[in-house]
Formats: sequence, C-alpha cells, structure tokens
Amino acid sequence: MKYEPIIGMEVHVELNTKSKMFCGCSAEAFGAPPNTHTCPVCLGMPGALPVINRRAVEYTIMLGLALNSNIQPQNVFARKNYFYPDLPKGYQITQYELPLCLNGYVEVEPDGHSPKRIRVHRVHLEEDTGKLIHVGGHSLVDLNRAGVPLMEIVTEADIHSAEEAFAYVSKLRQLVRYLGISTGDMEKGAMRCEVNLSLTDPKTGKWGTKVEVKNLNSFRSVRNAIAYEIERQANVLDQGGTIHQVTMGWDENRGITVLQRVKEGDTGYRYFPEPDLPPLDLELAWIEEIKAKLPELPEAKISRYITIYQLTPKESSILAEDQTVAAYFDKAVAAIGHNSKVTPKLISNWLTGELFRLLSESGRDITILKIEPEHLVTLIELVNAGTLNQTAAKQTFSVMFENGRPPQEIVKELGLQQISDTSALVEIARQVIHDNPQPVEQFKNGKETIIKFLVGQVMKASRGKANPQLAEQLLREQLSQ
Ligand SMILES: [Zn+2]
Repeated sequence: MKYEPIIGMEVHVELNTKSKMFCGCSAEAFGAPPNTHTCPVCLGMPGALPVINRRAVEYTIMLGLALNSNIQPQNVFARKNYFYPDLPKGYQITQYELPLCLNGYVEVEPDGHSPKRIRVHRVHLEEDTGKLIHVGGHSLVDLNRAGVPLMEIVTEADIHSAEEAFAYVSKLRQLVRYLGISTGDMEKGAMRCEVNLSLTDPKTGKWGTKVEVKNLNSFRSVRNAIAYEIERQANVLDQGGTIHQVTMGWDENRGITVLQRVKEGDTGYRYFPEPDLPPLDLELAWIEEIKAKLPELPEAKISRYITIYQLTPKESSILAEDQTVAAYFDKAVAAIGHNSKVTPKLISNWLTGELFRLLSESGRDITILKIEPEHLVTLIELVNAGTLNQTAAKQTFSVMFENGRPPQEIVKELGLQQISDTSALVEIARQVIHDNPQPVEQFKNGKETIIKFLVGQVMKASRGKANPQLAEQLLREQLSQ
C-alpha cells in the first residue's frame, strides 16, 4: 500500500445500569413497547431536572482505569445543542472540555500482526438519544433509549489498518464484558462505532482529508468497511481526484460505503456547561475504592496462566478470551484436590478441545453449560486412574454435556470402565492373533507398525473399553512366544 491509512475511532458503549443517566426510568428497554420507559426528564419536559447516575460514573471510571487513563477528579457536564426528532430537549447532555478519563491506551494483537499500543484520548459519559422508526411513509419516535447512559471512547489516530481496527473494537468489547458494565453487543446497538479515515500522501507525508464512516453495526462490518474505504480513497487519489470531507455510510448488503452527507465546516453545537447539574467533583478515595474492586483483566489472567500454570501463551489467551470460559477454568483448577494428579494443563486441553467442539456443534453458549467444574476434574481423575480410556472419557464427557450428571454415574450406567484386567484382555489378544494370521506374519517378519492394527482389533473386540497400552503389551508378549 503506497498510501498509509490514518484511522481514529469513536466508539459508543451503552452501560447496563438499572436506571437511565439522569432519571429513574429503567434503562433495560431493549425490545420493550415504544415509549414505556419514559418520564418528564427523559422526555425533555420543560422544568424537569436531571440527577447524575452514580453507577454510570463508577462504570465509566472502571473502563478508564482498565484503559490506563487518568481519571479526572473535576468533571463538568455540557449541553451539546442540535435539533433532531430523537432528541426532544433540543440538546444532549454530554461532556466536552472536562471529561471523566483522559490519555489512556490499550494493547491489541491484530491477527498476523505484532502487538500494538493504541492511545485512547478520552472516555466521557453522556446520554443516549431516542430512536426513529420508519414505517409506511411515516417516521415514529421511540424514546425508551433516550437517556440511557452512554460512554464515548475516542482514540488518537493510531490505527493503520482494518485488522487493527477490528482488534481494537474486539478488545474494547472484551474489556466491557470483563468489567460487567455493558453487553458490548454491536448487533443490538449496545456498542456503535464510527471511523475517521484518511490516507497519507506518500510524497509529502501529509495527512489527507478525513472521511467519516458510519453505520458499522457488526464487527465484520468494521473490518470490511475500513478495507473498502481505504481502497476507495486510494483509487480516487490514483486517478488524480480529490477526497472531500464527507460522511459515508456502510451499506452492508452491497459491501460499499455510500455518501451520506457533505460536511460544512464546524457544525456549531455551541457547547456550554449544563446549568442544571453542578460540576462533578470526585473524591480520590472513591476512585481508589473502584480501582481496588476491579476484576482481574485479560492480560493479568494470561500472565498468571503462563507463569503459575505453565500454559502456553496461545492457550492462555484462548482461555482468557471470554471471561465466562476463564471463570470456568479458574473454578475447575480450584477444584483440583491436594493429592490429585490433575493439572491445569489437562483441564485446559478438555476445555479448548472437547468442550469448544461440542459448544460449536450444538450452537450453545458456555453461559448455560451444565457440566460442574468439579465433575470435569473427576472425569480427568478417572482417566488418570486408568478407569477410562480417552475414547470412553470423550463419550462420558458428551453425556455430561447433555445432562450435567456426575461422570461416575454415567460410566457405571453405560459400562464404560476400561478393561485393565490382564486375564480378560489376554483372551481377547489370543483371539485377535488367531483371527489375523496375515498381519501376525507381517509383524513377525519385522513390520513393527502393524502392531497398531492388532491393538485396534483388540479395542474393537472389547467395544473400545480395553486399556490400549496394556493391550499392546499383551499382544507383544503373545507374539514373542
Ligand atoms: Zn426518564
């Protein structure tokens, strides 16, 4: 690429507080009948007074801390004046000059690229707007969402590719989920992205004109829209054209960006301090308290898994990717008894192997997993003790996945105990040798690998219950006689 893309992102994240940002209405309004979660404050009635939601401030500080930001003890809410039918007050209460969090950063690891630090300029708190619904030539207003707490997270122009942007929004979603402050669901509008993108002139090194890209409603569309827009701008420049300062919208169906509107310089929001809210002075002790309560974040988890449990960096990040998986893993490790030979590594193998396979096959979510972490540990113990071979263990695990019953019960019921009894296996081994004269001949003539075939026959004859190591040992003994 001869033009270097310069990308900054603005991400809005809806907080999952119980009530709205400045009134007592329930903020859990997704899917509710229109205008049922409203009151004079969020309807913008004259004279109704806002009150700051303490929990929303706390949540924003949590994210600010997770993003290594400076939390600003002095905050001011501001009015951003503009007219739109989804905004009955005629202004949005937001933060302007004095936001909650400044100058943070986050480390991301884009696929196939080296790790990278993206600076987060600011995180501020504001209220969401309502929604317009267009049906049959009419536009209807639903104000259930008006006043839901919203964080705006603004990066510096540190992003240089679609992959980096994708890694950044993925990281943000991971963090808000770990912190438990938002669902981060882009498809439901709980997380919304806007991108500012320009291309650098390769001769002068000067940044080109910024184009804003909106309508990014999924993680895939973030990646696809940026890749498309980079190419579009490069083509315009290659043909000697000029990039105009415009807002483009991503058309998911057609896979292209389309012109939404032409920007006309400063939009003139005429911000001024919100006269109905006093400045927000935060006590340092409260910020410290929030810091102390932060959960263990992905990076810390990964390094703990590597150093304490001797897992590889790759499997550690797979486990830490989703906080539900990580929490499950931690619980299972905690359930290992003192003299047990079960290791975190063995647990990790079952989770990233069989469990992930069954989850993806069934389309189920780990949040509704029926297997108790203790039962997984017991299952591994049964394998270690020689009661189950791998095949029978996997079979037991899939039954546990279906009904959540303890492994011992399932093993007993299905008769899956491994045959480690020499006398029983010797009989089977003799029979297999008798029934397979040709492979036996080949083995005796030095074809060592054919033993695997004979072991396979013993496994088959025992309906998968033979201990394969013992079977091989007995076969060799018989064959050498
Ligand atoms: Zn309200």
